[in-house]
Amino acid sequence: MAHGIENHSMTDKHYKKSTPLTEHGTQQVARVTLSLVIPVFNEEDSLDTFLLRIDEVFQTQALIDLELVFVNDGSTDATLERLLERQQQDSRVRIVDLSRNFGKEAALSAGLQIATGQIVVPIDADLQDPPEVILQMIERWREGFEVVLGHRISRRSDTWAKQTSAHWFYRLHNKIAEQPLPENVGDFRLMDRCVVDALLTLPESRRFMKGLFAWVGFRTTHVDYERPERAAGQSKFNGWRLWNFALEGITSFSTEPLRVWTYVGALVSLVSFAFAIFIVVRTLVSGIDLPGYASLMVAVTFLGGLQLIGIGVLGEYLGRTYIEAKRRPVFLVRRVYDSKD
Ligand code: UDP
Ligand code: MG
Repeated sequence: MAHGIENHSMTDKHYKKSTPLTEHGTQQVARVTLSLVIPVFNEEDSLDTFLLRIDEVFQTQALIDLELVFVNDGSTDATLERLLERQQQDSRVRIVDLSRNFGKEAALSAGLQIATGQIVVPIDADLQDPPEVILQMIERWREGFEVVLGHRISRRSDTWAKQTSAHWFYRLHNKIAEQPLPENVGDFRLMDRCVVDALLTLPESRRFMKGLFAWVGFRTTHVDYERPERAAGQSKFNGWRLWNFALEGITSFSTEPLRVWTYVGALVSLVSFAFAIFIVVRTLVSGIDLPGYASLMVAVTFLGGLQLIGIGVLGEYLGRTYIEAKRRPVFLVRRVYDSKD
């Protein structure tokens, strides 16, 4: 489809032009510590398959020391118990248990904070991010890239509505935000330690991770992959949640929606000024003419609506400023389970 080609070239345009240094390239066979950060929210059904696949992929990789950082985002099923059982036999498993459900963005932040690897990859527990792609990412990292994005070549596993709304979101966001977001790229990406450290210095408490990832920059490239269906369970993101997520993205990285009202206001005043002149001239030429109730009502309600929208947009930003001003932590940890405990 035309979209695919367009998306692809967009990613290329923004990310391929940086030429990597060969820092890592010279030491091709060096050992590397890899942290996978896995936010889990009611994933008891996916966990076993997920861990099985991870083993399949990494068993043969003698040069990769793996750390599995699970962030239990307030699951109400047996997710935590399953993880603890697994930790008994598998010392690579570390678990951060959050005090309640804080959302995937917060869970990711929690995981990044305790991950110790030289390279870190956030990955979903539902196997929609295929673990074998990580091996390709590591190859690119060894060439000297600090960020390797997982770029979905098809979103066939998503519904039509999700695909189209995502497409329009990116178009709008990239028009008005300072830093464009690469399209068809999720949280699944490899990050060098320096990128993770940079992310951790960002102080905001409303964390739109995709935006923050793009904002920090660094030498970036991508690898393509097919996004499969969820292995088990259900997606936690429904339409309303995605809408709010999109609002979050736009208001976190652009003040354009605030500024646009200046221009809308200017335009409307200009039009009404012209209309006023027209009425004066018409009255002088053809005398007073009383009917006009309909046009009056239209003007009043139209302007009323416009003003309310303007106030609504102001409110969105004010609300966010208010929340940031409280400086509450992004997440609260009940307990961190390390295998030594
Ligand atoms: N997730 C989370 N907290 C939430 C919602 C989701 O930690 O409040 C996790 C979830 O367990 C999964 C990942 O985020 O590992 C992606 O979620 P999901 O598959 O529901 O999203 P989708 O793939 O539909 O975008
Ligand atoms: Mg999923």
